[in-house]
Amino acid sequence: MDTARELLEAERRLALRRLAALTGDFDEVVAASRDSNADDEHDPEGATIAFERSQVAALVLQARGHLAEVAAALERLQEGSYGICERCGQSVAQARLEVRPAARTCISCASAIH
Ligand SMILES: [Zn+2]
Repeated sequence: MDTARELLEAERRLALRRLAALTGDFDEVVAASRDSNADDEHDPEGATIAFERSQVAALVLQARGHLAEVAAALERLQEGSYGICERCGQSVAQARLEVRPAARTCISCASAIH
């Protein structure tokens, strides 16, 4: 299961980098909105910035959620329950784990949810 650990570590690095990029953007957007509010509360740009801010906030939440998933997968790896579907108890296909190393369920259970 060394490969799984490597995949998860790579996934975590990726998620962290993404989060850092997003929070950098987020700070910029917040700073920009603060400046424009100081100039004119009725600035037509205000609505756009508020929208962008909520979009970035949603992406930040998504990235944090993904990071938590990866962390949980690393814990399962340590416990020895990694790669076992949480719903049906069958093993998750290797090909699926290679694409989504943090997957909790097998393909058939995942498609049953959606
Ligand atoms: Zn399953």
